[in-house]
Amino acid sequence: MENSDLPIRLIRQETVAQKTLAATFELPGLPYAFAPGQAAVLSLSEGGAPGEGRTLSLASAPAELPLVTFATRTASGSRFKEAISRARPGDEFFLSPPFGEFLLPSGEELVFPLIFLAGGIGITPFRSMLRECGRTLAEKSSGPPVLLTLNRTAEETPYREECRQWNELGVARWVAVETRSAKSGGTPRDELVRRALEEILEGTGMEARLYLAGPPAMVDSLSEILTAAFGFPRERLTVDLFFGYA
Ligand SMILES: Cc1cc2nc3c(=O)[nH]c(=O)nc-3n(C[C@H](O)[C@H](O)[C@H](O)COP(=O)(O)OP(=O)(O)OC[C@H]3O[C@@H](n4cnc5c(N)ncnc54)[C@H](O)[C@@H]3O)c2cc1C
Repeated sequence: MENSDLPIRLIRQETVAQKTLAATFELPGLPYAFAPGQAAVLSLSEGGAPGEGRTLSLASAPAELPLVTFATRTASGSRFKEAISRARPGDEFFLSPPFGEFLLPSGEELVFPLIFLAGGIGITPFRSMLRECGRTLAEKSSGPPVLLTLNRTAEETPYREECRQWNELGVARWVAVETRSAKSGGTPRDELVRRALEEILEGTGMEARLYLAGPPAMVDSLSEILTAAFGFPRERLTVDLFFGYA
């Protein structure tokens, strides 16, 4: 049991894609600070103490504190995912201190174009960044960040409506790759990704700073395409691996 874990209360749950749940919690009136892109361990309350937990990226912005939101795929049906799906407003959970180095560039680095590649549920750290920064990222770097979301279908794309709004408001330029949609016409996933990346990199150039988040298999195949097919320099890639997903 972690003494530093805070007891938090569930406020609401929302379905943000097929088998994908967002849960919002309220923190007690204690100080809690995190940077967009960081994660924390969310634990079930077992006998009033932190029980089984999972590392989840904070999907809300620091500006939304004392509320914090996490979003997670529930398809595995694990005990943890079942518990969070069945929880009711007011139920107690525990929240660890935040951690992680998946952070936006600061200062001079911010002048380079930004590309965010979200594999499936890997949208969560980017949602925090985009909600926190709004249009300031577009104004400080050279234009709005490009957000590429990679999912099988539109229905499986988390926060799809919010992505559409970011695109409309100039917060981010959104490129959706939905590999099993009718539009993709049976083209293999890697080819769809390669075409999307080609178009993005033509616009930003190889100077871009590229952020990649999601399940390890997705992140690995995306970074492989980037480095092997485009010669994108590894040192400009920052990755957030959601270990625990196949
Ligand atoms: C930095 C980071 C950020 C992440 N962000 C997100 C996110 O925003 N959204 C999201 O959905 N997922 C995120 N994950 C992955 C998340 O931690 C889970 O691994 C994933 O959601 C699968 O959980 P599961 O319960 O469905 O799978 P399971 O197969 O039940 O378990 C997955 C992992 O949890 C471990 N585990 C199993 N049982 C226990 C237990 N009793 N106590 C502790 N660990 C156990 C397993 O060893 C396995 O590694 C992130 C992971 C990391 C490392």
